[in-house]
Amino acid sequence: MRFIDLQTQYLKYKEEIDSQMKDVISNTSFIMGPKIGELESLLADYVGIKHAISCASGTDALLLALMTYDIQPGDEIITTPFTFIATAEVISFLKAKPVFVEIKEKSYNIDPQKIREAITPQTRGIIAVDIFGQCANYDEINKIAEENNLFVIEDAAQSFGAEYKGRKACSLTDMTCTSFFPAKPLGCFGDGGMIFTNDDEKATKLESLRVHGKGTHKYDNIQIGLNGRLDTLQAAVLLAKFPHYEEEIAARNKIADLYTEQLKGHVITPHICENNLSVYAQYSIKAKDRDNLQKHLNAKGIPTAVHYPRPLHLQTAFSFLGHKEGDFPIAEEVSNEIISLPMHPFLNEADQKIITDEIISFYS
Ligand SMILES: *Cc1c(COP(=O)(O)O)cnc(C)c1O
Repeated sequence: MRFIDLQTQYLKYKEEIDSQMKDVISNTSFIMGPKIGELESLLADYVGIKHAISCASGTDALLLALMTYDIQPGDEIITTPFTFIATAEVISFLKAKPVFVEIKEKSYNIDPQKIREAITPQTRGIIAVDIFGQCANYDEINKIAEENNLFVIEDAAQSFGAEYKGRKACSLTDMTCTSFFPAKPLGCFGDGGMIFTNDDEKATKLESLRVHGKGTHKYDNIQIGLNGRLDTLQAAVLLAKFPHYEEEIAARNKIADLYTEQLKGHVITPHICENNLSVYAQYSIKAKDRDNLQKHLNAKGIPTAVHYPRPLHLQTAFSFLGHKEGDFPIAEEVSNEIISLPMHPFLNEADQKIITDEIISFYS
């Protein structure tokens, strides 16, 4: 049994993937080849946003997006402590200050009410995360941002393809970022990411920033940027995989529903808010005695993972912020009890039954 079965996925789409990759190899269009633009327009249309700017990773997407806001040292950016390090790392990387606020008890996404309380004269923006593939509460978040003249970045690294009130993830704020890391719902064969925006000026700036701050003259760079392009080979993989993605989202939801049906009453199953469609980047349950449950499942050959065992405010890299245990009790409790089960579109019912039976037997 695999936690995420990329092998089966490759064999299923092998012909298309190999042929797309072969195109790139035979015409040696490795850097910014035509497939880059092809992928960008395809995905821009899919999420319903004017500009898609591909880049080297989800982390670079967040970094490049933040760079367009001319962040100054001492600026404060509000975000969640219950996320992958990259979300807050890019804030610190630009010498701004990550200001963590508590998450909601059921969705594990940032609590809009707590955002309001964290705003100071130094606050410039908010990075909200669509944790485990479910969009945050953007109606509330955008409203607060508008009232306080803040920007909002949607960290949709886990939620590409998800829906919020009929709109697609990656279209819910001024600037949105996703990742194509292999373990994400839509993954490539290495690192990759994308930024989406309707802002023409910011799109032009992003295209420059991802290529060393290039201008119109090849050797006159107009700003400090980075080497943050997406490899054409990764675009080729995504072009082959994308036509199957809607079907995969449906399969993920079917599997999640079956998990929930079988596990309800035994553990805390994921809570999907009204008018949200999750892509289940993770199917994560909240379970008492989590570490022993994990040992039990591993002993039975069932792979699991913990996303995330330590909230960001308690990580060593952020110790300079001076947080202590108890600062964000919900994020801490979730970190202590959360565990992710195998989740991929090819998980069969027989394997699922083994997983849920073992969880139920652990608690009985
Ligand atoms: C994976 C992830 C990232 C970073 O993406 P990479 O492509 O690995 O750099 C950022 N934010 C969240 C919430 C993620 O899950």
